Amino acid sequence: MLTLSKEHGVNPTIATCWWCGEGKNEIILTGAAGVKMAKQMGDPSGRMPMNTVFDMDPCDNCQGYQKLGIMFVAIENEDVEKFASAQKLHGHFIPRRTGPMCVITEEAAQRLPIEPPELLEGIIQKRCCMLPQEVYAAMGFPQEDIDDMEEQT
Ligand SMILES: [Zn+2]
Repeated sequence: MLTLSKEHGVNPTIATCWWCGEGKNEIILTGAAGVKMAKQMGDPSGRMPMNTVFDMDPCDNCQGYQKLGIMFVAIENEDVEKFASAQKLHGHFIPRRTGPMCVITEEAAQRLPIEPPELLEGIIQKRCCMLPQEVYAAMGFPQEDIDDMEEQT
């Protein structure tokens, strides 16, 4: 049962995909429990932010992408600070998508200049790799989002 927060009522937040940064179509009513969570994330008011990453489960879209191939997601180092709040909640470093992402086939991924081979193998098994914007660009990945690319075709 939901215990309401005195100040923030149902204290809603949108469950957000760790991988692509999009909302998961799940509104979570955190109530009083969210007040503690929000404070842990650095908001002394106890109000939950609009978007919260609760777990690393990929959203439906990302599950689809990961079936098609390997996702590559650009993160920007200078923006990592922005996600310090989520880090406080989860107790470990949480990079989050801040740049474009793309999906390439497993075959194409096998040919990427990623060393050592065990690292590349690990990425292929995980179906996703987050990498700094500069590295993402250096690999020759497209700067447009997947959605933009779909619109172009
Ligand atoms: Zn996603």
